[in-house]
Amino acid sequence: MQFFPMFLRMAGRDVVIAGGGEQAAQKARLMLKTEARLTLVASDLDEELTLIVASGRARHQAGPIAPRHFAGTALVFVATGCPAADACVHALAKEAGATVNVVDRPELCDATTPSIVDRDPVVVAIGTEGTAPVLGRRIKTEIERMLDPRLGGFAALAGRLRGAVAARVPRESRRAFWLWAFSGPAWQAHRRGAERAAAATLKAAIETGGAGETGGLISLVGAGPGARDLLTLRAVARLQEADVIFYDRLVDPDVLELARRDAERVYVGKAVGACAWPQERINDLIVAQARRGLRVVRLKSGDPSIFGRAGEELDAARRAGVAAEIVPGVTAASAAAASVGRPLTERGVTDRVVLSTGACRPGDPDPDWSAMAAPGTTLALYMAVGKVRELRRNLLAAGHAPETVVEIVENASGPHERHLPSSLARIAETVEAESVRSPAILTLRFPKPAPSRHCARPAVWATRLAAV
Ligand code: SAH
Repeated sequence: MQFFPMFLRMAGRDVVIAGGGEQAAQKARLMLKTEARLTLVASDLDEELTLIVASGRARHQAGPIAPRHFAGTALVFVATGCPAADACVHALAKEAGATVNVVDRPELCDATTPSIVDRDPVVVAIGTEGTAPVLGRRIKTEIERMLDPRLGGFAALAGRLRGAVAARVPRESRRAFWLWAFSGPAWQAHRRGAERAAAATLKAAIETGGAGETGGLISLVGAGPGARDLLTLRAVARLQEADVIFYDRLVDPDVLELARRDAERVYVGKAVGACAWPQERINDLIVAQARRGLRVVRLKSGDPSIFGRAGEELDAARRAGVAAEIVPGVTAASAAAASVGRPLTERGVTDRVVLSTGACRPGDPDPDWSAMAAPGTTLALYMAVGKVRELRRNLLAAGHAPETVVEIVENASGPHERHLPSSLARIAETVEAESVRSPAILTLRFPKPAPSRHCARPAVWATRLAAV
């Protein structure tokens, strides 16, 4: 790191901006966000800066400048718009021992101005040490989107209540109290604009020693198909609030990186057909942890509600009277469609998506293949690569064409993603020749028959006429 990020106390301190044009105005706008005393050093000021001086928010120093003008300042910005003048002012300011920023001259800068996401008092500063300003702006846009515009006001309210919390809420409950405060009903009310109700909710909870705290929660969180930027913002929020995370085999380590550092992580790895952890044991554990008042995240690949055994975990939570929720995720079929570059539904071709599995429970009757693969269907088959021969036999026996399009996508959205186009006739050979491994999903397309050239309208007319 060539530049170390710090937040400087600005209240009542002097900042000098040398320059009277647009570059100087940009720095003035930034500094006016702070409580610094601003002096503009320039023979002439543009209209905006003149107005700032006229409104009393800055002083104007028009005469000749000397090092004493920069002595004791918190910061000096040099933005005259003239490289030679910038170099002279820089030398004078350095003689006075000031911390200096010269616009567009990184080699002369003691300090650089970051991109800022401003939810005062919550401020995020992003710097790239001048290497990639475009990247800096992109990161800023993402963070702007993540942070609710009302977050600052709520943080300020929390700041005002800190003393009361320290006095009334026992130390061991404080973390849980603040977690509740920043995600529970008080925050929800504040973000809707009901600021008084939010403050009243917080104060009532503080009065009762932090009783607003909800106790444990089980979140069945969708980790998406692999790529960590396919997680939802809510999933990331749950990971960052979690006390303990139970995750399984298909969850990418990159995704776990997003979790709170000191969250406990428990691998309950379940491979297809080989259950390292019986489902009942997982159910018991997540319930027991939530009952201790912990925030439990059960991280599942894709969407928890699709072949994720979420129902059993929700039932266990309900039976135990523990709060539980599903945080949806991007399912493998959606990621596969993105990989293939073809939507799951297409107007006039497929207007139905069937998500099914090649691995039913032993003893379950065979699915009705002709119903599942009716014309106009995209059939996405999970956990099916080990059963392609059986699948081919059944679909051909149900009368489907050997040239039916089959897409095989292995590791959709992951770094080793493979897309292997095939057909019903060749599917087993493709899987074997390419050594397709789990996780892989199959999508089969059963288009609607092409519409006949005679449209249905004459028949409609005929019926109407008959009715007349
Ligand atoms: N809940 C998950 C599915 C879990 S079942 C979801 O919504 O995606 C496990 C099966 O999902 C795997 O056998 C495979 O068929 C499919 N799958 C999961 N992740 C995948 C990926 N990244 N690429 C392809 N298939 C995947």
